[in-house]
Amino acid sequence: MTTIKQKKAESYVNNVIEQVKEKNPNQPEFYQAVQEMAHSLIPLFERVPHYMDYAILERMVEPDRMITFRVAWSDDDGVIHVNRGFRVQFNNAIGPYKGGLRFDPSVNESIVKFLGFDQIFKNALTDQAIGGGKGGSDFDPKGKSDMEIMRFTQSFMNELSKYIGPNVDVPAGDIGVGGREIDFMVGQYKRLRGAFEKGAFTGKGIDVGGSLMRTESTGYGAVYFAEQMLKHEESDVEGKKVIVSGAGKVSLYAMEKAVELGATVVACSDSSGYIFNEDGLDVSAIKQIKEEERKQISSYLDYDENATFHEEGRIWEVKCDLAFPCATQNELDEDDAKQLVENGVTAVVEGANMPCTEKAIQYLQNNDVRFGPGKAANAGGVAVSALEMAQNSSRVYWSFDEIDGMLKDIMADIYKKSASAAKEYDVEGDLISGANIAAFKKVADVMVAQGII
Ligand code: NDP
Repeated sequence: MTTIKQKKAESYVNNVIEQVKEKNPNQPEFYQAVQEMAHSLIPLFERVPHYMDYAILERMVEPDRMITFRVAWSDDDGVIHVNRGFRVQFNNAIGPYKGGLRFDPSVNESIVKFLGFDQIFKNALTDQAIGGGKGGSDFDPKGKSDMEIMRFTQSFMNELSKYIGPNVDVPAGDIGVGGREIDFMVGQYKRLRGAFEKGAFTGKGIDVGGSLMRTESTGYGAVYFAEQMLKHEESDVEGKKVIVSGAGKVSLYAMEKAVELGATVVACSDSSGYIFNEDGLDVSAIKQIKEEERKQISSYLDYDENATFHEEGRIWEVKCDLAFPCATQNELDEDDAKQLVENGVTAVVEGANMPCTEKAIQYLQNNDVRFGPGKAANAGGVAVSALEMAQNSSRVYWSFDEIDGMLKDIMADIYKKSASAAKEYDVEGDLISGANIAAFKKVADVMVAQGII
């Protein structure tokens, strides 16, 4: 039976979602992220109604500020192009805004806001003092020369530099932004500021002040999270058949760690299609192709004569025990979920941000597939970014193994927090609700303490 408290919580949440739709027209990804978060908070609002009285959710869905700006740059032929730059500074209740920059033609206000909103909670789960932000540009880095990338990032930084800093807002990479782009930004920022503020960025090259293991951290962290989930079922990654979508920073290192722990990675993809080898893919060859040669995944066939390349079709058709969507938002829909279930998948762990549609998640959960939500499972990257900030401030640098140990502990702690919040709020086993509730509570309590701002 629905109680009065439950009705009140539901109606509050529905009102907030309606307001978000009304005030932010044509931002479907942003509503999707808010909706997923807000619905899972109903059990919390029922028990702790003062979060509603303090209008915490209304305040959280409204970013502190959204910055958009022009980025003009010239290509190698002297042709001038104009892109749009974005930075959303969503919430800094628990620390400076923190979140990556994405360079991809699909970037717009909705994408940046969904990512920035989710980042608030992901960052809170790590227990590091970092708030939520995100940014990027609709610039397409594919096929651009190093000099074009440099000119674009310098122009981007000419504007963004006004809004960031080690105690204000600390960008990092995301899709289309890796060490090369971050180091160009560090260079331009240093020139504009007239000071060497290493802590203004994370994901830097090691010699530029980066942390060991930052590159590996999101992918490794997702696999450590999967290990925690499987441990609960008295199982582990060893001996499992794994598929990983994407072949970028997250995917490559999720594959590397899965293989190291004894799994067989049978398929991975990029934006051109997927590769498959029943006996396992050679991850070092894929790294060579994507990180060094910057080529499409079909080149893998030059390294492995037993592999096949599938331009048509979807990677989710491949039979596996564990699936790691690690490419982009909404890449796994309800039909894909049905296919995975039919093929006997036991767990899906999100390495990317919001890669599964709401219907896909519902289908997986209704069919007893264990589900690791991105906010929790891919938080290893930003956790090691926070460790990079700590190292930059203290000027003391830790070894790879030390950071790996800290990452493992952080991922185990995130799993524990999510699982126990789910249990406490009567949604045992639902790690989405558990992670959302645990993260929301942490930020909300600080917002209550800091007053109405
Ligand atoms: P990268 O740009 O390094 O890699 C993205 C990969 O996904 C590329 O291989 C790209 O292909 C591929 N891809 C893009 N669209 C599709 C598609 N529709 N189907 C299959 N493959 C596709 O990005 P990251 O690895 O950094 O980020 C991936 C995801 O993880 C994003 O959602 C990001 O927000 C999230 N994330 C990243 C973190 C990080 O530390 N980098 C931290 C937490 C989350 P191609 O090579 O052809 O372009």
